Amino acid sequence: MQYTDAVKITEIEVLEAELSGRDGIASWHHVFTRVHTDEGISGLGEVGMAYGTGAPAAGPMVLALGERFVLGSDPFATETIWECMLRKSFWAEGGGPVVFGAMSAIDAALWDIKGRALGLPVHRLLGAQTPPPLRCYASQLQFDWTDKTTNLTDPSQYREAARRARAQGYDCIKVDPWMIADDGSRAAKLRGILTPLQRRMVRARMEGIREGLGGDADIILELHSFTSMAGALQIAELVEDLDILYMEEPTHYNGAMAHDRAASKSPVRIAAGERLYTRWGFLPYLQAGSIDLVQPDVGLVGGISEAFKIAHLAHAWDVGVQAHVCGSPLATAMALQFEAAIPNFEIHEHHTYALKSCNRDLFVEDLQPLQGRFQVPQSPGLGMTLSPGAEARMTRTSVRRDA
Ligand code: MG
Repeated sequence: MQYTDAVKITEIEVLEAELSGRDGIASWHHVFTRVHTDEGISGLGEVGMAYGTGAPAAGPMVLALGERFVLGSDPFATETIWECMLRKSFWAEGGGPVVFGAMSAIDAALWDIKGRALGLPVHRLLGAQTPPPLRCYASQLQFDWTDKTTNLTDPSQYREAARRARAQGYDCIKVDPWMIADDGSRAAKLRGILTPLQRRMVRARMEGIREGLGGDADIILELHSFTSMAGALQIAELVEDLDILYMEEPTHYNGAMAHDRAASKSPVRIAAGERLYTRWGFLPYLQAGSIDLVQPDVGLVGGISEAFKIAHLAHAWDVGVQAHVCGSPLATAMALQFEAAIPNFEIHEHHTYALKSCNRDLFVEDLQPLQGRFQVPQSPGLGMTLSPGAEARMTRTSVRRDA
């Protein structure tokens, strides 16, 4: 099409899919937005809160921000719209996942519109040539690496999950050896120092992982901020000799002090960032030198526009980037387009939930890597199409303003 600045945003939809319990995923609620224009082009975005508690809070926030700051705007004005949502909504200047998750979904949908209007994938709009297929890792092996979610307990199960991923061509995996108790339940008390029995359990599981992978693949040690600083350091020292690429989220983000101290004492490099928002959220950690790999979630940090800025901020400190991805195939598409466009990309996260049919059925496109490498999609925009059957089962709310 011939793009003119007469294009206006006319409607913002929120589509939600409640999938908790499906394929063994305990908590799983998707919040998508679809932004429409008077030219007939629409774009899709996703809030990065599908797991945990609180995703349903983001849908109304998308509509509130959309009605106030986005309807009637030019979809190409991503910077203007973003700054407007940040400065004029009052709450965005304080932060948090709900407001930034909503801003992220809107921003991603606008980039999708821009790409569709110009016939180019988003990474090309961001100024990048299409890279070779991106290296990716099999993520969260404590839930197994199949089409079902299983809480793994025995070290031999960890070994077999790693072996399966390796056989599919992955040369890196991520595992949390600490979150599942011996009886298969989610462990209840994870903070504080580990007992000798617990240390033996963690060690045995990690040995199982290394055995299953062999020596020519990397391991990312995931701790999900479940550990306190002392516990995280115990685990790092316990498994350091197994050649660990990064230790992820050793402690919480409520203040940077404990994190900085963990990083200064850890024998293993630190990856973190999935619960940080905007460039200002990442800045103190980069200044302190306490993150060696940043993990911005494109659906949480403020969208593609903001993730791009965070990547370049990290680049100034010579720190690499891996987008955090734990969502629908649309979240994968958002991450791939972003990662393809930045100079300091390290590795892409392919979550075990991305193997489950409840996720794969949401979109027409089934985004899966081949031999541990992800081909970056070449279709215009984000290139994703909601499957009609899945959309029919979603709840739908919207705000609109006729042009
Ligand atoms: Mg993580």
